[in-house]
Amino acid sequence: MKKEHRSIPLPLRKIASVSFRSRAYRFLRALFVGFILASLVNLVFSWFFFTPKMYRISKHNSELIIQYKILQDKIDAASRRLDEIKQRDNTVYRSLFGIDTLAVAGIYTPYPRSKYSHMESDHYAPLMIGSWHALDALGRSLYLESRSLDQLQPMAKDKELMATAIPAIMPINRQALRGVDRFGWRNHPIYHRFIFHKGIDLGSPDGTPVYAPGDATVVSVNKVGTGRVGYGKQVLLDHGFGYRTRFAHLSKILVEPGQKVRRGELIAEVGRTGGVTGPHLHYEVIYMGQPVNPVNYFRKDMDQADFERIIESANSVSFETEHGTNEGL
Ligand SMILES: [Zn+2]
Repeated sequence: MKKEHRSIPLPLRKIASVSFRSRAYRFLRALFVGFILASLVNLVFSWFFFTPKMYRISKHNSELIIQYKILQDKIDAASRRLDEIKQRDNTVYRSLFGIDTLAVAGIYTPYPRSKYSHMESDHYAPLMIGSWHALDALGRSLYLESRSLDQLQPMAKDKELMATAIPAIMPINRQALRGVDRFGWRNHPIYHRFIFHKGIDLGSPDGTPVYAPGDATVVSVNKVGTGRVGYGKQVLLDHGFGYRTRFAHLSKILVEPGQKVRRGELIAEVGRTGGVTGPHLHYEVIYMGQPVNPVNYFRKDMDQADFERIIESANSVSFETEHGTNEGL
């Protein structure tokens, strides 16, 4: 065998090495063509069908879209709830305290588009930018509402004080009442012409007790009278919160300027001083310098027993305070 191997001629060996190279070349070429073909098939296939990876991405995308839509719904629901709070704030709380709607300049102006420009190239830009817009608007409204409530908080603290200060009870006992002349334009009983009546007249006998209709400070008293015209002997009270009350045509005044009085405390007695045709109390409620109808301030939920309880408690306490210096008046 060894001998035969040695006997193979040299050119034949050369031929053998050439055919090996050409086989390797053919193999590589086939591999290359195969690779190109496989790529083409893959490309055509993926054009019509999803590959598993693309399928996963697409599924992920549609989940994201759903999540965005849920987020959008939640933003909408929160905006609606905030609108309700805003409505209640403006129509109930703010009107209760008599203050205007809070306005912060530019609070409803949307942010410029440039704020969202980094999202604009995204395939889902309208969805994403829409959500951001809504969320930012909600944030601004929330800020406005929190500012508004900050403003109301100290007023709410005063509210309790205000409730006892406002002239809410009738200044004389209803049982002493002998007719009422109303507030507003009327044909004057003495001057016989139309004159604006700044208060109400509570007809009642001489000496009927007159009570403070709310906690107040005595501003001024006129114990001398004004002859046969005008208010006669009168008392002016300041209740704070923009409210004052006037009591005219009195026979006797039991308070001094600067004195503090409680709701239901005895301050004077009904009389017929000044321009009158008979004994009555002329009672005015003045809000921010303007006379308003006192009837609108009488508490509707109060019965005679409530009234008497208030009078009794106010006057029993007042004897123990320093304002009981009414002797000699
Ligand atoms: Zn009057």
